[in-house]
Amino acid sequence: MPRRLTEKKLVLASHNRGKLAEIAALLAPFGKEVVGAPALGLPEPAETEDSFAGNAALKARAAARGAQLPALADDSGFCVAALGGAPGVHTADWASQPDGSRDYAKAMAAVWARMLEQDGAADRHAWFVCALALAWPGGHVEAYEGRVAGHAVWPPRGANGFGFDPMFVPDGHEQTFGEMAPAAKHAISHRADAFARLVAGSLG
Ligand code: IMP
Repeated sequence: MPRRLTEKKLVLASHNRGKLAEIAALLAPFGKEVVGAPALGLPEPAETEDSFAGNAALKARAAARGAQLPALADDSGFCVAALGGAPGVHTADWASQPDGSRDYAKAMAAVWARMLEQDGAADRHAWFVCALALAWPGGHVEAYEGRVAGHAVWPPRGANGFGFDPMFVPDGHEQTFGEMAPAAKHAISHRADAFARLVAGSLG
């Protein structure tokens, strides 16, 4: 049986303001009091593991130890079958620019160019993954993983969402995540799937 989160207060081990707001909203119905890692002055550990679950656990453990509170961390990314699952855990790196900013138009173009090189983009299967890790100060970790399968398209379409959304069409749909209304994406996304698993295992 997964360990349940009985404590009222927890840390969100993220330095991304969008993610902090999104996760805080998801946890609000469960009566949890959430505090972001930046507010506690916690450092952001390097993501040195080679799996989403490994990196989420690493971030959650570091925050739980530093804050002496339960901590929730996530790690997510975009995976393309023809590229052996890349960009994968290195998704954010594909968008990194020399000046430290992120350019997703360039990152999407690089993914498509690599797909053309590999197999002429014959295999367009792609998926997003979201790993969530809930860690306690004593070191215990519960891990949950969500995914949404679909295919890559070119050119990118739509101005909603973020990251690789404009080049991903989820199975059973015609629109990209970038074209869908945010609520429609959030109903089927990898993050929604991971949260449903977290709720069932540790929160409900
Ligand atoms: P993280 O902050 O290390 O989890 O990096 C996640 C990477 O995957 C970022 O580059 C995001 O743009 C990308 N990514 C994660 N989730 C989504 C999504 O829902 N849509 C588009 N891109 C995503």
